[in-house]
Amino acid sequence: MKIGVLALQGAFAAHADTLASIGHATREVRVAADLDGLDGLVFPGGESSTMLNLIGRAELWAPLDRFVRSGRPTLLTCAGLILGATNVANPSQESFGWLDVDVVRNGWGRQVHSFEATGDLLGGPLVFIRAPTIARVGETVETVETFEGAPVMVRQGAIVGAAYHPELTDDATVHKLAFPAVDRSDAAASEV
Ligand code: GLN
Repeated sequence: MKIGVLALQGAFAAHADTLASIGHATREVRVAADLDGLDGLVFPGGESSTMLNLIGRAELWAPLDRFVRSGRPTLLTCAGLILGATNVANPSQESFGWLDVDVVRNGWGRQVHSFEATGDLLGGPLVFIRAPTIARVGETVETVETFEGAPVMVRQGAIVGAAYHPELTDDATVHKLAFPAVDRSDAAASEV
């Protein structure tokens, strides 16, 4: 698959490395034409209010909205999750509403700007950087990972949302979930 990474601001670079490690080609997305021919898209962490601003300036709101609503696999991490949520608090701001969750910006506490933890369900490493909390999970949204019982990674159809930064560890579980890797043994078998 060819996966785009929104590259207006924030932690976009490491996503390409993780995607490459599971067999995907990548492209940085800065203007609408960069979306052409992509099979999926990553919205990285960073500062969601700044990203909103830059999305407006680059006239990317409608193209991004069309792309994600077309049903192509999308991974939203941290600030990306904030952009894609239904409702945003602390403070409230505009969002695309692709994923039926409500989030609270910097919800893990002002003092704790960043911390590492271990997931309750999958046991993988979780890197939180001024991360949002997920305050409400919609009925059609599946909680895939929790930390101290609170949802931190969710899935709704082709959209995966993580409050943490999966691209900053060696664990590609979240990227694999969002963008199923090409199974090379199957590909080889079908060529025979
Ligand atoms: N606190 C940031 C925001 O509200 C998100 C932090 C992150 O993406 N690491 O946009």
